[in-house]
Amino acid sequence: MSQSIIQDIQNKLNEKKISCVQLVREKIAALQSSTKNANNLILDEQALEQAKIWDEKIASGHILSGIEGIPFGVKDVYLLKGTISTASSNILKNYKSPYTATAIQKLIDAGAIPICKENCDQFGHGSTNENSVFGVAKNAHNDDKVAGGSSGGSAVNVAEGNTVFSIGGDTGGSIRQPAGYNKVYGLKPTYGRVSRYGLMAYTSSSDCVGPFANTVKDIATTLNVMSGKDGKDQTTLTSTPIDVESFDSKIKAGTKIGVYKSFIDHPSLESKIKTDFNSLIEKLKEKGVEIKELDFFDGDTLTATYYIIALAETASNLSRIDGIAFGNRAMDKENLALTYLDTRGEGFSQETKRRIIAGNQVLSVGYSEEIYKKALEVRKGIEAKFAKDFEEVDFVLSPTSPLLPPTIGESLKDPLTMYLSDMYTVGFSLGGLPTLSAPFVVENNVQITAAKEKDEEILRFAYAIEQSL
Ligand code: GLN
Repeated sequence: MSQSIIQDIQNKLNEKKISCVQLVREKIAALQSSTKNANNLILDEQALEQAKIWDEKIASGHILSGIEGIPFGVKDVYLLKGTISTASSNILKNYKSPYTATAIQKLIDAGAIPICKENCDQFGHGSTNENSVFGVAKNAHNDDKVAGGSSGGSAVNVAEGNTVFSIGGDTGGSIRQPAGYNKVYGLKPTYGRVSRYGLMAYTSSSDCVGPFANTVKDIATTLNVMSGKDGKDQTTLTSTPIDVESFDSKIKAGTKIGVYKSFIDHPSLESKIKTDFNSLIEKLKEKGVEIKELDFFDGDTLTATYYIIALAETASNLSRIDGIAFGNRAMDKENLALTYLDTRGEGFSQETKRRIIAGNQVLSVGYSEEIYKKALEVRKGIEAKFAKDFEEVDFVLSPTSPLLPPTIGESLKDPLTMYLSDMYTVGFSLGGLPTLSAPFVVENNVQITAAKEKDEEILRFAYAIEQSL
């Protein structure tokens, strides 16, 4: 198996086996002919212009390195100057990005070429990519199944090889779960490692920017480029670059792995996923890894806590999209109240409206003490439990989702089941922890989580598994 697709492509470009224009043309043709509905916009002209510039540099002796000349995809919740950024909504269908998000700008400055804006659930609201005005993105491996969400289009593009990597957004699982449904890698870094500036806010206290790719090294390389302190996002951290070249392909004996019993014993866990998960654990034991069973909050508590906080924050964040500050306005109304009502009524989907209403409810007088403040208390308890657990183990392993990808249309009838399907991802989001969804043995991927700022340790461990299992 290749260790780095980025490296493989750059070798071909440097050896002049293909040109960058040819490469970008191929990717664009693949995006255009894909039947998965993974993209809201394809950036053919801009991308080809960039590719030409790289070809000229190569012709004059430049050797590509890092991520130079590599085509990538961008979830349609990031601002990219000169493009329409819709968040897959009606209300922002004509919204032209006034600037470029920090993470995306860093990738561009490092030489990567954005080639598409990817389909997703509206404002990140969903787990199936069905909540999109552009229609559902289909699973890369089965047209009848959902791609997962909310970053469904990004996962599908990487699975089909139509982008070399893609940048998704993960608030409660939106990178990890579609990575699982489409069998690619997806990383949610430590909260604050990558700037959120220019990412449309869903839940500001857990929104994370992260990559999808087909190898661990490509995840690490793109993370390195995006990471770092940003004066435009006060929550950003300083981080040291990951030394990708020194990754070791042997699993370290004595590595301590925690497994949450409440996750594995949950009745809604599909038996295939459970069997696969146990078989991965056995394989790791054979390599000398130590397994420790741990107690944890149950999935229902985690899901309820996450959704209370997420809905409260999204109701607040989306209040600026009112047809006046931002978004398409419903015109010719008799008064301002009707203008707001029609603008937001027509501009947001049913699922997004449900979340705004519920979010405002949990924040309102009479409910906030009992519901919202209680959720904040539980969140503190979750954070404290993680701090304690990661004194005892190096990593926690868990499935990514209890379910196999649902058939298209199923989840729309039953949003509660959809919310509960996030039970394995949302807890780590509330804790701000780094976590990788990796296509090792387990159907729908395994999640490898570590303590805050241990992104590098996760990637080193994952690389060893990738190379030795
Ligand atoms: N499915 C979760 C939700 O709808 C997570 C979404 C996300 O991470 N953006 O809130």
